[in-house]
Amino acid sequence: MQHRSVLFSQDKAGYNRHMAHARNTKKLTEVYDLLYAHYGPQHWWPGDTDVEVITGAILTQNTSWGNVAKAIVNLKGETELELGPLLAIPEERLAELIRPSGYYRQKAARLRGFFVWLGSLNSGDWRTWLKKKPLNEARDALLAVHGIGPETADSILLYGADRKTFVIDKYTLRFGARYGLYGEKTKYQEARAYFMDHLPHSAKLYNEYHALIVRLGATFCKSKPLCTHCPLNQTCRAGKKDLKHLKPHGNI
Ligand code: SF4
Repeated sequence: MQHRSVLFSQDKAGYNRHMAHARNTKKLTEVYDLLYAHYGPQHWWPGDTDVEVITGAILTQNTSWGNVAKAIVNLKGETELELGPLLAIPEERLAELIRPSGYYRQKAARLRGFFVWLGSLNSGDWRTWLKKKPLNEARDALLAVHGIGPETADSILLYGADRKTFVIDKYTLRFGARYGLYGEKTKYQEARAYFMDHLPHSAKLYNEYHALIVRLGATFCKSKPLCTHCPLNQTCRAGKKDLKHLKPHGNI
């Protein structure tokens, strides 16, 4: 039989883990509530159909959404955004149409390659595959496609197929490190696990949460943070420091 003190320390370790988990969940809930109260619903993804969402997720690599939107308008002016019609566009022409999104030759090849692969799944019923395949298997399969990284794969699964996977991007890594959720060197997988381990598993929540963080990154938590008017400045580690620094000078 184990000694009582060993059992006690095991209980204590379990209790500490439980408390740390509860604290992290509380922090994430607080952040969400503050962001939602400030910005309201974001209505993501800005696309009418799953194919449009997938197209946007691939085109948005290394560029701003404004440029992607122009490319999508061009595509919509040319054809219906469905796999067949998109694959019927010659690659040269496709590249021309998506030119505003930058790296257009590379992205045209990537887009075509991805749609060929997608269309080959599940005897053509790729929508069911995306929605029903066990999440980790679907994610691994997407990640094995040339040019599809974790952010694109998770965006396709969450926003294109309503799967319960959290999307991480540069805004999320930056804000989370400043806020005190995780360290500055935290990588994609670790940050994704942090959100998914401490939030209820809900595609609706993940959808809105990621969209709100992107909004925060574009408005306040920029490369040079604008903490003074940020909705998180009373609870954020970096924000509180910034306000403390400003207060004696009467700047806020
Ligand atoms: S308070 Fe400052 S550092 Fe914290 S989330 Fe807002 S802008 Fe970013």
